[in-house]
Amino acid sequence: MNLAKKILTALALGVIVGLIINNFFPQYFEPLDGYLFTPLGTIFLNLIKMVIVPLVFFSIVSGVANIGDPKKLGRIGAKTMLFFLLSTAIAITIGIVLALLIKPGMVGSFQTENLSYEATEAPPASETFLGIIPTNPIAAMASGAMLQIIFFAVFIGYAISVLGKKVETVAKVLEQGNQIMMFLVNLVMKFAPYGTFGLIASAIGSLGWNALKAMLLYMLVVLLALAIHFIFVYGGALKFMANRNPVTVIKAFLPAMAVSFSTSSSSATLPVAMEIAQKKLRVPRSISSFVQPLGATINMDGTAIMQGVATIFIAQVFDVNLSLIELVTVVLTAVLASIGTAAVPGAGLIMLAMVLTAVGLPVEGIALIIGIDRLLDMTRTMVNSTGDLTCTLYVTNSEQKKGEVFDDIYDDTSEKP
Ligand code: ASP
Repeated sequence: MNLAKKILTALALGVIVGLIINNFFPQYFEPLDGYLFTPLGTIFLNLIKMVIVPLVFFSIVSGVANIGDPKKLGRIGAKTMLFFLLSTAIAITIGIVLALLIKPGMVGSFQTENLSYEATEAPPASETFLGIIPTNPIAAMASGAMLQIIFFAVFIGYAISVLGKKVETVAKVLEQGNQIMMFLVNLVMKFAPYGTFGLIASAIGSLGWNALKAMLLYMLVVLLALAIHFIFVYGGALKFMANRNPVTVIKAFLPAMAVSFSTSSSSATLPVAMEIAQKKLRVPRSISSFVQPLGATINMDGTAIMQGVATIFIAQVFDVNLSLIELVTVVLTAVLASIGTAAVPGAGLIMLAMVLTAVGLPVEGIALIIGIDRLLDMTRTMVNSTGDLTCTLYVTNSEQKKGEVFDDIYDDTSEKP
């Protein structure tokens, strides 16, 4: 069995085991989770986290150094940002329209008294943008502040490309650092099936089905919007903007989606997503290593969809009619909120507070959806990382169509640890 099949089998097994324990042997969940599922999941997560910071740093430096020309870098950056922003705005709009049509907050009764939710203060948008510049790059790496690491790495890469021969040795060291990290990703992924099993069994085993039932319609709307965005927006972009066969791309990307689903974290998915883009889908390393880490950090269409649907849902539950201007405000703030969302489990829900506050809705509404958010988080994270991949393939195609030639496409697809 190849690794992709092993991961998918582990995922299915995790679901089955989780369901059986949840339904028939709930008394065994705690010991099994404490001694088996969670440790397996944590080992895997920690192994992935171990490689993320050096991988992002080395790969962006080598990517940018390889692109060299600042004009080309600017063009790739502009295309990437435009794609991210537009696709996110489309995603929220799909979510809002579906929620307005299906009205999940008007069917059934929801207890709105005694709801309480401690909203963590969302940082103002200006702070997110100014905070991109690291005053201390080492501190940024130590704390895993992704945007800051990306910013610093772009500068180093640029310096290397300008200084050329003078810093040949450093360039080589960083390039080889990148190769070592990719090798480690490969190695770490050998543990993925076990980690996936543990994470899924733990998540499914602890689900509260009663809570799910009450929120079924809300969940269905989110899932439907995610599916529409995935199939039509990404499918269309892959076919018409990236000139790729969507089915082949998604098939190759399945292991990364399984990791997204089990970890609920785009940043934990990043190493394997980059590996698939570069080795299986043959994206130039310079493009993949620039677009994907950036995307994992700021491009979250799935999160934006949830935020759109959740806002309308909460408005309906609290019997508030949102005007058109307010709906536009929701779209704009949800774009910002999804950019500011950290690529870790549950972060999208924290940022939802910012969207709700922008249109005067009670943040306590979040308490209604928090219990069932895990399942949606798993699903929307798959959409988040597929969106980054789609953009990567689009930028590649658009650059190649322009006649750009890339000499950093992996030719050795069989590299095995
Ligand atoms: N878990 C999501 C991610 O990492 C973020 C979120 O929506 O909570 O992509």
